[in-house]
Amino acid sequence: MVSFAAMSTPHTVSAEEFLPRDTADVVRTVRDSRGRAERLTVVGGEPLDDGLALPDHRAVVSLRRMNAVLDINLGRRTVRVQAGAKLSDIDRRLGAHGLGLPIVGDHRDITAGGFASVGGVSSASHRYGLFTDQIVDLEYVDTDGRIGTCGRHHHTDRFHRILGAGGRAGIITALTLDAIDIDKDHTWLTTDANRFLDFDSFVEHAHAEILRPGNAALQVGRWVDTAPLKVSRPVGTGQVQLGTVRFGQWSSLYPTTPTRSLRARREVGTRTRKSLGAIASAASGRAGMPVRNAAAGALMFAPKVLTLRDAEYLADTVISSSERGPAYRVGIFAPLSSYSSVFYRLHDLFSGHRERTGCFTVISAMTYGVRSAYLRAEADARHLPVEDHGLITFTCRLRPSALPSELLRDIVAGIDDICVSEHALRYESED
Ligand SMILES: Cc1cc2nc3c(=O)[nH]c(=O)nc-3n(C[C@H](O)[C@H](O)[C@H](O)COP(=O)(O)OP(=O)(O)OC[C@H]3O[C@@H](n4cnc5c(N)ncnc54)[C@H](O)[C@@H]3O)c2cc1C
Repeated sequence: MVSFAAMSTPHTVSAEEFLPRDTADVVRTVRDSRGRAERLTVVGGEPLDDGLALPDHRAVVSLRRMNAVLDINLGRRTVRVQAGAKLSDIDRRLGAHGLGLPIVGDHRDITAGGFASVGGVSSASHRYGLFTDQIVDLEYVDTDGRIGTCGRHHHTDRFHRILGAGGRAGIITALTLDAIDIDKDHTWLTTDANRFLDFDSFVEHAHAEILRPGNAALQVGRWVDTAPLKVSRPVGTGQVQLGTVRFGQWSSLYPTTPTRSLRARREVGTRTRKSLGAIASAASGRAGMPVRNAAAGALMFAPKVLTLRDAEYLADTVISSSERGPAYRVGIFAPLSSYSSVFYRLHDLFSGHRERTGCFTVISAMTYGVRSAYLRAEADARHLPVEDHGLITFTCRLRPSALPSELLRDIVAGIDDICVSEHALRYESED
C-alpha cells in the first residue's frame, strides 16, 4: 500500500508534497515520478518559511515521517536511524544510554539525511570533523528508484558521491552513525572569550586557536562589520560617517567542574538568552532589523558557564529563524597553511563590493577549526595538499534588490579565484 500523502504546502505554491513512511514508499515515489518534466526535490523536514518563497511547482519529497531511531548498538556505540530523524531527537535518545552525537547542527530541526547531504559542521569540528565523518554506512534510493547501500568501508566511491550531494545523487533513507561516551546535560563548559576591534588581530588569534585548540570542547570566532551610515551635511561640506561597528570575538569553551554558583550563573544566562530570542523572533521585517542584529550581537556574549547541550544550541535559543533573511552566504574550508590569506581576501572582496556599490549592509563572519578525515580525502582526490582546515563563513546582508546578477557573477568569480589559488574548498551548505 502506498502510504505517502500528496498535498499542497502552505509555504510554496508547490504542486505536490510526498510524505513517505519507509524506504519502499520512497522507491515508489521516485519510480512514479520518472516521467515528470520537473525533478523531485527532497527535503529533510518542513520546508523553510522565510517569507521569501517564490511560486514553485516542484514535487517535494519530505522525509519528516521517516523519523524513527531504529537501533542503538551499545557495544559498537552506533545508532541506526531513518533519514528524517532530527539530530536533536537522536541525541536525546542516545543521552539515556550515556552516549551522544559528536557533531550536531546549531538548530533543533536539522535531520540526519539533510545534514549528511550538506556535510555538517559545528563548533566541535576542530575535534570531530564533519557530520559525514560520523557516518558508518547508509541506505539510499537512487534516481532510478533502486535501493542501495554504501559506507566507510564498502562502495566508498558511491558513499562519497551521495554525501554532500544535496540530494542530487539519490535520497538517503537510513544511516548508521557513530556515537561517543558523553553526558551533554552534565558536561559543564566555561567560556574563555577574547574581543577584538581590528580585523587583523582577530584573524591572527583565530588562526592560533585553530592550530592549537588545547582541550577546548567547542570553539568559535565571530566578526561583525556594519556599513557606515552616511549623513549629508549642508551643501559643499561633504558627508559625515556615523555608526560603524567593527567587532570580533573568539570563544573557546573548556570543560569545568560544576559548583553550585556555576549552576546559578547558568540559570540567569539561560533566562536572558531566551528573552532575547523571543524579542528577535517577534521583530520581523525591515523594521525589526536593528533588534535582530542586537540579538545576533548578544550571541557573541556567550554566558560564562553552560552545559554542552546548551552550548550546542545557543544560536537556536537566541535567534532561531529570525537570522534567515535576504543575505549572501558563503562557506569556505581553508587549509590551515593559507587560512589567514583566505580570510583577508574574502573580507576584502565583500567589503570592497560594499564600498563600491552599497550592495551589502552588515558583513559578518564566523570561523572555527575542522579536522576531518572526509575533507582530507576530498582534498587528496583533487590533488590538493592534504591538511586540516578552518571553516570561514561570511554572511552579507543585502540591501533590497541591490545585488544584480552581473555583480553576483563578479563575487562568485572572485570566490572561485580565491579557492583555486589558495587550495580551499567550498562548503555547499544550503540554508
Ligand atoms: C538556522 C540554521 C542554522 C544552521 N546551522 C547549521 C550548522 O550549525 N551547521 C551546518 O553544517 N549547517 C547548518 N545549517 C545548514 C543546515 O545544516 C543545512 O541546511 C541542513 O542540511 C538542514 O537539514 P534539513 O534536515 O533541514 O535538510 P534540508 O534543508 O531539507 O535539506 C538540505 C539539503 O539536503 C538535501 N536532503 C535533505 N534530506 C535528504 C535526504 N534524506 N537524502 C538526500 N538529500 C537530502 C536537500 O535536497 C537539500 O539539498 C543551518 C541552517 C539554518 C537555516
